[in-house]
Formats: sequence, structure tokens, C-alpha cells
Amino acid sequence: MQEFVHLHVHTDYSFQDGVTKVSNLVKRAASFNMPALALTDHGYLHGAIDFYQECSAAGIKPIIGVEAYVCPGSIRDKTEENDQFYHVTLIARNKTGYKNLVKMMTIAATDGFYYKPRIDKTLMEEYKEGLICLSGCMEGEIHTHLYDNPKKERTIDLGKAKDKIDEYRSIFGEFFFMEFMDHGIQSQRVQMLNSMRICKEMGLQVVATNDAHYATPEEWDMRDIVLADRTGSCLHDPNRTLKDNEHQYYLKSPAEMDAIWSKYGSKFIGNTLKIAEMVEVYDPGLKDGYRLPRYSNKDSKEEFKKLVVDGFKRRYPGRGKGTTEYERLVHEVKVIEQLGFRDYFLILQDMINHAESKGIPIGPGRGSAAGSMISYCLGITTLCPIENNLLFERFLNAGRKSMPDIDVDVCKEKRGQLIQYISERYGAESVAQIVTFGRMKGKGTIRAIGKVLEIDGENIEYLSSIMPPDAQEFTITLNQIINEDPEVPKELINKFKEFMSRSDKNKQYIDACVRLEGTYRTSGVHAAGIVIGPEPLKNIIPLRQSKDGGTVTQFSMEEVEALGLLKFDLLGLDTLSMVTQCLEMINSNQELKDQGPLKDVNCKTFRDLIPYLGKMDDKKVFEKTFSRGNTIGIFQCDSSGIRELLARMKASSFNDISAAIALYRPGPLDSGITESFIRRRNRKEKETVWVESARPYMADTHGLPIYQEQIMFISRELCGFSLEEADDLRKVIGKKKKEEIQKFREKFVKAAVSHSKIAESLGNEIYDDIEKFGRYGFNRSHSAAYAVICYATAWLKTYYPAHFMASLLQKFVATEIEKANDSRVVKKKDDEKMLIYLWETQSMGIVVTAPDIATSHYDFKVINNNLISFGLGAIKGIGPKLKNFCEIRAKNDGFRNFAHFVAMAISAGLTSRTVIDLDKAGCLSFNVSSEEKTKQFEGYVRSCRCVKARGTIKPDCKNCNGSGLGKTKRTIFDDIRSFSGSTQEEFDKFINELVPESQESTPKCVPLDSPNVYIISRYVKK
Ligand SMILES: [Zn+2]
Ligand SMILES: [Zn+2]
Ligand SMILES: [Zn+2]
Repeated sequence: MQEFVHLHVHTDYSFQDGVTKVSNLVKRAASFNMPALALTDHGYLHGAIDFYQECSAAGIKPIIGVEAYVCPGSIRDKTEENDQFYHVTLIARNKTGYKNLVKMMTIAATDGFYYKPRIDKTLMEEYKEGLICLSGCMEGEIHTHLYDNPKKERTIDLGKAKDKIDEYRSIFGEFFFMEFMDHGIQSQRVQMLNSMRICKEMGLQVVATNDAHYATPEEWDMRDIVLADRTGSCLHDPNRTLKDNEHQYYLKSPAEMDAIWSKYGSKFIGNTLKIAEMVEVYDPGLKDGYRLPRYSNKDSKEEFKKLVVDGFKRRYPGRGKGTTEYERLVHEVKVIEQLGFRDYFLILQDMINHAESKGIPIGPGRGSAAGSMISYCLGITTLCPIENNLLFERFLNAGRKSMPDIDVDVCKEKRGQLIQYISERYGAESVAQIVTFGRMKGKGTIRAIGKVLEIDGENIEYLSSIMPPDAQEFTITLNQIINEDPEVPKELINKFKEFMSRSDKNKQYIDACVRLEGTYRTSGVHAAGIVIGPEPLKNIIPLRQSKDGGTVTQFSMEEVEALGLLKFDLLGLDTLSMVTQCLEMINSNQELKDQGPLKDVNCKTFRDLIPYLGKMDDKKVFEKTFSRGNTIGIFQCDSSGIRELLARMKASSFNDISAAIALYRPGPLDSGITESFIRRRNRKEKETVWVESARPYMADTHGLPIYQEQIMFISRELCGFSLEEADDLRKVIGKKKKEEIQKFREKFVKAAVSHSKIAESLGNEIYDDIEKFGRYGFNRSHSAAYAVICYATAWLKTYYPAHFMASLLQKFVATEIEKANDSRVVKKKDDEKMLIYLWETQSMGIVVTAPDIATSHYDFKVINNNLISFGLGAIKGIGPKLKNFCEIRAKNDGFRNFAHFVAMAISAGLTSRTVIDLDKAGCLSFNVSSEEKTKQFEGYVRSCRCVKARGTIKPDCKNCNGSGLGKTKRTIFDDIRSFSGSTQEEFDKFINELVPESQESTPKCVPLDSPNVYIISRYVKK
């Protein structure tokens, strides 16, 4: 039997080029009994760990490599002359080689990046240790001189090829191989024959590869679709540049490879095995354990102790030894020390305390970390776990040998500042964001592939309209639909069937979508993940650059974790920015502020507010908002569904909010738990508990187990489980794996019978219930932490309603960040949401004045408790340039007429588009028709540009000719005068203001005299 090892293989980590998942390739290699397999994706090492794990599991020796881009000059040279690059295949033969590859590819994707991640000869020389070099495909630096390539204006030049060979050979020596591929291309054959001649002459080692971009021969068309998608063309476009014409780029069998190469000699195939043998089996770092950064050079044990003790005294004054709180603290400290996570907590508390000290808004905590008293004492979270029945074991326990997972909510706008701090604190080289890979899925795939296959627009729209959107839980895949998975609604399956039956083309279309579903299409930056290494990260994992120049890992979140690195999620949360804005608005008007409970205090951020919320049991807050479902704009309670739920359950306590968050999810809703809760809450259903001992843990949820923590408490009471064992039960139930659940049943019933002396049948019944309810159970720590945000926003809505609504509406104003990204800004505004907020404001008895260019501000502004002035920036199509306009307007004490307005508009840099948008929104209340306004404005802009550039208007000026205006300065002046009755001085001022004066004057906005009528349709375009 022939043996062969593939040394040149691409997967879907070669985005929009390779189309097969690593697992499929490994499976195919295993089916051929291949002893080893290489991975050589284009430019990056994204797939290395995934590949290593898959190969190891399949008993195949993993060979980690890359098809790198080599530039002929230095990577430092980033000029058009040096924008050429060649391909080269590099593989690591041992751990040193792997580490060198990691370092080299990091440099390629950071300093070396220019169109592509590039390396050069100097880098190869520096990092050659442990590497094997194959000369690459037809795009290899040597190979390009071995065939005529009219497209790139290159002709055969054996001399040059030999020179290049010398360069590579002098770097890699015995580890350099001439690579041979035959995909049935004529010019490749020419190259091959020339190459063979030279190899003989120079005594070079040869090796055969196949440039695999998919697993099986049948997949070629998938790659072809992906290539067309990459270039934005249609599959049948005859001018398409990237094509898979040969259908040869699959993982060929040893027999197929042998059939191609044995006729040229045995070395071509033989050397693949020789190379595979050269490669050692090594661990890329998965077995190295945790690699946590040090918090400081000082003894972290002392530091930790001090901070925890201080925090405890602050949070629980007077609680000493013997109290529940104290015992809990001691227990948590013990577990954390035992697991070695001291520094982890120190790092987090340092980051959060820094944020607080700098006014960067941070949430109250989220996820299971809110169950930890240490988190509470260190200020990582803000709610007491004992008061809220939260469990430390749900978060960490001695039996759970995985890194703690603490996620932090931070205001979106200032998230970057916090990352900046972390990289200064631990060294920029030790901190990175984490890559994420975008898969082909759902509506996106339907649209992309529809375009490539030239499916008509109506069909694409129809299909993507019936495809359910991605949801956190219960995402339905195309695969499930086509395979009629029982979880998929019958109706949806039928719609797809019907669509496919309409034509063969439709069938092929869906077929292609299903086949490509799940493959990677792009890479990006994870919205939350941050990793901190104990040393420069490039020593451990490969890195790359993000579009905005930040450092990003080449490995995904799970892999970063598997390598023992510390990662946590910094999630941008809009509500935190909204609260900041609301507090800013409150603070900006002392008189109005003093009318509410924040009199005499100065809260700036969400966390500042928490002490003033007391026990979060203010009757007024519940009566006005939660119990009636008046929760529009309130965190997580904004949708009509949850509003209805809150009203039906008459939510009147903090626990109710927490329960609502847990109950308003597909699981509890579908299973009837939510309905049962409402009935019990309204005394329309009897409250039952499984056994008496469970009662205390189910009291606030009316005997229904809606939280995972309840199941944990109950199993502790009933079975005498430790909380660690209880957490195991939670995990088993949550995973929904039948065999495991069944296995745990025995343990549970046996323990219940012996510990609580209950009948075996009752034990089984309870377990049935746990199985039924438990799978929908929510993490109480998370629910409770988020309920804090709900309550805080409701509190603001209750006591500062105008400020609250104005800050909600402010969301629709184009921001500075968007300005940075795109000066033209057409914000994708959610019109419907804005209308809802406007109606809500009105129904609260607060008037929102219609926007007017003479009086409105760029931002929403609270005029008094019953009056909000509409922010011009929220008008569709309006960008931050209008902010300049408002400043100029204030400086000039307003404008006097249309010409004056135009002068200011031009000097603020507004476009005629903006003027049209303002007009459509009804903000330009001049006595002139709309067309006239636009025409005049455009004419002025052109003429003024001319005046600005030349000081005068030339009769032959191209810019002014088309404007339909006069050709001299005089005529523009006349034009303005005839229109507005301006004087010569006014005209001069008009021109002068094209260049804004720097002279300082106090901005003063024109005061609103009369509130305008509230007509939404005028300023929100359909
Ligand atoms: Zn490729
Ligand atoms: Zn290539
Ligand atoms: Zn390749």
C-alpha cells in the first residue's frame, strides 16, 4: 500500500479561498490512513490549535505550517514598488520551529503588514531554526522564473531561478525542498519540467504536494462560489479573475498522488514521508497549565489579604468571626488561593477601581461572578451575594479546574480607554484583543450566495425573510431545516421545501447555502475579549493587527483559554452610556435637579448612583413603572413581551424583576413555567414545593425552580451534596445529554433516600422535575446583577422623567465616534424605536418641541420637567457637522435671514444634502420653496468655493458656470440681496465667515419662545 503525506493544505482559515473545516480534512486524511497531515493556510496561523487538537484526536501527527507571503525587498519597505509578494510553504518540525513560526508570523501580520502579512529573507534567516521550507506553488519566488507569465510580464529565466534557490538554500540548508505540484495546468507543467532539470543540476531535494483547498473532489464548486464571492462577481461572469478551473485542489488519495508522481522517480512521494518523520510531536502549549500575569512584583498574598479584609470591613461593618458573611469569605479565600487565582482577582479589581476613579462607567457585575463575596468585597461587583441568595460554587469551586470567567460591562465609548490602561499597566506587548471568525450562516449566507448565483432579488429577499434571525439560544440552521430537524417548526420546513420545488436553480441555490453553512468567511475582532499574558504574547501565541492598528490574537477565544492564558470579556453596554448622559443632563440644571432626590449629590456614572438607590424597594418606582409594565426605555424591560409579563405578574419587588429576566426567555416561556409563575403570583394556582426542606429556597419564586442556584441549594438540602456536587448536577442537567442525566439520577435518588429518608419514588419524581425545569433554569447571579441596572434605570425614569427620556432619545443623535469613522455619517437609525420613545415621552405628559434650525440644539435638551427640545442631530441623515453649525449660530447670536443661514451653513461645512434633510424634516421655516432653498444653497456653495480659492469669480470658472448664477461677484451679491435684502457689509461678512474666525465669544443659544406642535411625521422620514 502506498503512503503519502499532504504537506500543503488549506482550510476555511484561508478565508474565502479554502472551504473545508479542519475536522473534515482530518477525517479524510484518517480515512486514507495517513500518518501525518500538514496545515498551511495563507498568511496566518489561525487554525493551528484547532488543527492540532483535531489531528491528535484522530491519531494523526499534526504538522503545523503556513503558506507565507515573502516580499522580495524588506518588510519595512511599504511602497508601491515593494507590493509584490511570493508564496512559500513553511512548516515547523519541532517546538522551537513552532515558536519561531509564531514569532515570525506575528511580525508578518503586524510590522510586516502591507496588503498582506509579509515576511522577508532577513526574518527567515533570524527564525529558521526548527523550520522546513518548501519552495511553494506557482507563485513561489523561484518558480515564477521557471514559466512564462505574460499577465505579470515575466518570462523564463533559469539564471534568476538559480540565484533565488541559492538564497533559500543558504538559509534553510538541508531543510530546503523544491516543491512540485501538478494540477493539470499547462504553464505549471513547463515550470515543473524546468524545475526538475535544475534540481538534477544543483542536487536539490524534491517533494510533491497538492495545493489542497477542499477535502473531496466534489467540493470544487463550493470553492468556486467562495472565490466569486471574494471578488464580488457572479459565478458565470466570463471576466472573473479568480476561478477554480482545474477542480484538482482537493486532498488527493495516496494512490492518486502516486499515479501522478511515481513516473518521475520515488523521491517525490518518498520525501513527503521523510519530512513527516523529521517533524517531532510536540505540545504547542496546551499542557503548560495557567499562564497568569503577575499583579505586581510585591507578594500578592499579602496584597490580596489586605484588599479583601479592607473590602469586607467596608461592605459588612461589624461582621466578624462566626457570622455567615465572615465564614463565607474565609471559604472563598481558601478556594481562590488553592486554585491559584489570586492575581486574577487583583488584576480585575485594579482595572475596575481604575475605571471608577477615571469616571469610566462600569456595570454592577454580570454572570456567575456576581455570586462571589470576594468579587463584592473587591468592588468587582456591587451586590451582596448573601442577601440575594447567590452561590459562589456556581462561579468557582475546587472541583472546577477551569479559569474563572468574570465578564465586565463597560460604557461603549470609554471601553478603549480601559483597554489602553490595561496595556499600559501590564505592557502593551502582553495585552491583546481576541480574534473572532465570521461564519457563513443564516440570512448573510442566503444573500451572499444568492448574489454569486445570480438568483433574482425577489427570491433572495423572500428566502432571507423566512429564515429566522440568529438568536443567542435556539438558533436554527439551514442544515436543520433541510434535514427536517424536530426542533424546527414544520411550517418553516414546508416553506423551504416549496421554494426548492419551484425550480432546479432554487434547489441548487439552497444546496450551496447548506453546504457552505458554518465555514469561516472573515476574521474580525471579538467585541469583548481581552487577553493578558505573563510575558510578551508573541512568545506564546501568534498576533495580528486590527484595522485600527490594535493588537489581536490569531487564535480564538476558546484556544486562548485552552492555552492557559488569562482572558476576560469587557462588554460595551449602551445603557451605561445612557445613564451617564442622563446624569449629565440632571447635573447641568441645578434648579431641576433639586426638585428630585439627587439634590445635593453629584453622581456622574452608574455606580455613583447605586448608594442612592437604597434597598431598591421604592414603592413609587414599582408603582409607576414595573407593576404596570410602563418600562419603555428601561434596561432589558423595553420589549412589548416583557412589559406585558411585568404587568401581568404585577412586579413589585427587586426579586420580581430578577425573576422576570429569568422567565422571559424561550425555554421558560415555551415550557409553561412563565405562565405558571404568573398564576401563582396572582394566587390563581396553588403553590407546591417538592419537599418541605426545599421551601426556603423556592419562596420568592412561588415554589417554582427558575434559577440554577435553587436546584443547587435543594440538592444540598435533600441529598446532602456538597455545593461542588450540586454544581455538577447543574452542569449535567444543563448539557441536556440523556445518558449523563440518567447516570446522575442514580446518585441523586440514592443520596436523597439516605440523607432525607424519603421514598425512592419521590426521589425519582423530584429528579424528573429537576430534569424538566432545571434545563431552563437561569443563572441567578446574572439575573440579580442585571436587575440592578433595571431598577436604576426605572428609578431615573420615575424621578427625572424628562431627563431620562431625553437621554434615551439622545441615542439617536449621531455621535463623535461615528464622526471619526465617517464624516458623512448616515446613521442607521432605528426610526421605529425613536417613534416609540417619542410617544412614550408624550404619554408621560412631556412635550418634545419640533426641531427648528433657528432654535433647536444639536443634542436633546431638557428645558423643564415637561419640555424637551428635539436634538437636530437625531434627524435622519444629519451628522456631527451640524454641531459646528450650532456653535457658529450661538457665536453670532442666531441668524437673521436665509442668506445669513446659508453663510453659517457653508462655514460649518454642511452639504446641500444636509440642507435638504433639514428642510424635509421641517426645520427650515423660511419663506422660500424647498427647491429654491436647495438651488440657492448649492449655487452659493459653488460660488463661495470659487471666491475662497481665487478671491474673485472668474467668468470662465467651471465651478460656477454650472450653477446658473451670475459670473461675477456682483451678481452673487445681487442674488443674495434680491433674496434677503442684505447690504454690502452683510455680504462681506458672509464671505468672511467661510473661514471661521477664531475670536472667542461665549456661545449663547437662541432661547425657545413657544413650544412647537408635536408632529412626529414631519421629522422622522419613512
Ligand atoms: Zn489559496
Ligand atoms: Zn500558493
Ligand atoms: Zn497553497
